[in-house]
Amino acid sequence: MKITQVAVNVLRVPVAHPYVAAGRTVDANWHVLARVTTSDGVEGLGYIVYPRPDLMTAICHAARELGEHLIGMSVLEPEAVWDRLARRGDWVGPGGLLHCALCPLDVAVWDAAGKTMGQPLHRLLGGYRDRLPAYASDGLWYSLTPDELAASARRHVDAGFSAVKLRLGREATPELEARRVRAVREAVGPDVRVMVDATESWSLAQARRSGRVLQDAGIAWLEDPVHHLDFAGLAQLRRRLDVPIAAGEHLYHLDAFRQLLEAQAVDVLILDLARVGGMTPWRKIAALAHAHRVPVCGHVVPEIQVHVLCAIPNAHLVEFVPRSAGILTSMPRLERGELVAPDAPGLGLELDEAAVRRYQVVS
Ligand SMILES: [Mg+2]
Repeated sequence: MKITQVAVNVLRVPVAHPYVAAGRTVDANWHVLARVTTSDGVEGLGYIVYPRPDLMTAICHAARELGEHLIGMSVLEPEAVWDRLARRGDWVGPGGLLHCALCPLDVAVWDAAGKTMGQPLHRLLGGYRDRLPAYASDGLWYSLTPDELAASARRHVDAGFSAVKLRLGREATPELEARRVRAVREAVGPDVRVMVDATESWSLAQARRSGRVLQDAGIAWLEDPVHHLDFAGLAQLRRRLDVPIAAGEHLYHLDAFRQLLEAQAVDVLILDLARVGGMTPWRKIAALAHAHRVPVCGHVVPEIQVHVLCAIPNAHLVEFVPRSAGILTSMPRLERGELVAPDAPGLGLELDEAAVRRYQVVS
């Protein structure tokens, strides 16, 4: 179970239908993929994914350099391994690029640990459940007209989802924002949860006004209404509105999450695996949220998030965005609106090796 080999590469995985997000055309999902091999011949895989190429090569090089220090370590000591690697880079951390470089290595070590012990990670890490309600957010952008948005949400519901999330924050008035929610509500019916992500678009005053109108339109949560570091603003919105406030995907470090939770600024905590630095710190932050009676959701990478979420007592929903489907032989399956955690050892994911070769960027 000693690590004998580490490989890290950048992959550019094209998207089938390019779209515009935050003023940029997205035509590919960029990955940093790490693979660790052990003395027993077990291979663990881990990756981060982002719809932009920026700094992906730099993250890959940082992960390669950190990965050299994995040689000789045991995959059965993943938390200690994370700590040793994080200390190597502590002068440029915590957070930022360091965490993005640690994440694929940490996930690969956990995957190899699960495979070595013959157990799926959702069971090895806690075993609370083997499936979790999922929500769809793919393609529900502010660039769509209300009718297009409604049709797209309907397709998700027809595919089996019982919750969807729209991006808002680009309309001139709260009423126009609410019109988008109502168009979706009409298309999906009364039983589907409709969440909205305002992607930090509003001032606090705008968020108060929009929040009131949107909660009347029946949304299930309001995500990132103001800048992610405005904990006092989030806390104020939480006190003044009835709708649950969701935030957290932009934060990197346990201490930032502690401050957010102590400010009583969120009803739902969203965790981004890459930004927090992998599964090891993810679990510590989720435990902290549990102590504050706050449920946790995953941000993207549903095929990995489903394992850590199923392993904790305070999991809420997994976000379904299949950005890595193009490099995997299959995604976890959806059953009655729930994402089922794979039962094979480790992550239970298998790389499509031909696709990995095809999309690999020379670096
Ligand atoms: Mg978001």
